Amino acid sequence: MKKIVMKFGGTSVATGKNIRHVAKLIANNRSEECGVVAVVSALEDVTNQLIQAAEEAKKGNREYIRKFKQEILERHLATAKEAIKDKQLEDETAQVLVSRVGELEQVLKGIVYVNELSPKSMDTVLSFGEKLSAPIVSGALKDLGLESEHLTGGEAGIVTDSNFGEAGLLMNFTKFQVKKNLEPLLKKGAVPVITGFIAATQDGETTTLGRGGSDYTATIMGAALGADEVWIWTDVNGLMTADPKIVPSAKTINELAFQEATELTIFGAKAMHPRALEPARKEGIPVRIRNVFNPDNPGTLITKEHKIKTKDGVKAVTLVRNVAVITVSGAGMVGAPGTAAKVFEVLGKENINILMISQSVSEANISLVIQRNLLERAVNTLEIALLGRDFIREVTSEDDVCVVAVLGAGMKGMPGVASRIFSAVAREGINVRMIAQGSSELNVSFIVKETDGEETVRAIHKEFKLSQK
Ligand code: ASP
Ligand code: MG
Repeated sequence: MKKIVMKFGGTSVATGKNIRHVAKLIANNRSEECGVVAVVSALEDVTNQLIQAAEEAKKGNREYIRKFKQEILERHLATAKEAIKDKQLEDETAQVLVSRVGELEQVLKGIVYVNELSPKSMDTVLSFGEKLSAPIVSGALKDLGLESEHLTGGEAGIVTDSNFGEAGLLMNFTKFQVKKNLEPLLKKGAVPVITGFIAATQDGETTTLGRGGSDYTATIMGAALGADEVWIWTDVNGLMTADPKIVPSAKTINELAFQEATELTIFGAKAMHPRALEPARKEGIPVRIRNVFNPDNPGTLITKEHKIKTKDGVKAVTLVRNVAVITVSGAGMVGAPGTAAKVFEVLGKENINILMISQSVSEANISLVIQRNLLERAVNTLEIALLGRDFIREVTSEDDVCVVAVLGAGMKGMPGVASRIFSAVAREGINVRMIAQGSSELNVSFIVKETDGEETVRAIHKEFKLSQK
């Protein structure tokens, strides 16, 4: 039997009407020959509201919790009412919702009592977003006459370590469990509806996979079941050659290799969980990004086999905002082994992620790009750790910058790409402050002044005629 895993994000399940639409999409694609596993996010914005509620609980704000409980219950009951026409099915779903919101209230009250919000309790609170959306989607499927069951990620068999908030997947164990739990359901023709984003430790404690984790849940399911494809239903047509807000003529990319798509998601073309493509890539399962509001569009297909044609060396150009550059310099760094290691170690210990690195051959300085909101902390930490050592003279920073990343696997071994990129930028009179090319040759990234960012993206998009692909 063919198997397709379909993931629906928060916007796709934002209202009862949307959920009915989602149920119809599932019904249209499911058949005797093709089983469908649905993975769903929380209703739009609910995860953010749960974070807020947990924080208010920690402050002891009982009044907020009381109101919040009422509002979240009413929203989900109204959504279920709109999504499910059959009265009995609606009542069954409502019972689940009432009981789960009751549990959520208990958890929040517990936080109020102990005045403490551990990553573990936060995960328990967050899990309710998806635990409230999945029963509604499942009810809407039954309303259309399909057999369906809703399961939490843990019940489906996703097992993680206990790194709450960003739990690590235990894939072998997961594979075994997911097969055991879901295959019988698929065999009898039912559609399992799995809560995205949440999983469980081996002891059954609730964990989450990190924000945006439902995409990851979908590819984990796909890999565990050996699915034919994973479809990520979202609210855009697919991955694009550039942000259409910057380049109005930007196009949807029809096909990409996994390595390219990974770079694109890292550089923020679509907010996707950073590990989301991993399980699918490993098992060679094609992933399709599709628009739930435009299902006739085939979207973007991400595959292992995609032939990389050199003529379309450059596939996309993206802008990464809210970054800053730190430069550590000192003549004493020349030929001093361990300097770079020290810099990375210091930032790593502070949990500061480095987006881009460049060191000139003269070795007199190292430049790093990090997220702008971490700048002050990063500079302070580096100064405390490094200054006074004889080989470092100063730590400077610039925060009026952005990263432009030019991506495409066909750039590999293709001479002249870099020269075309930088000539196009130079023609606009834009100054490039720092450059890095990964040795993978999948992307060339560079830093320009923040105010030049959009112009730079447009110049490159035009140079490589990305609107015509
Ligand atoms: N609901 C979670 C979040 O908002 C997971 C997801 O939507 O993918 O981060
Ligand atoms: Mg979401």
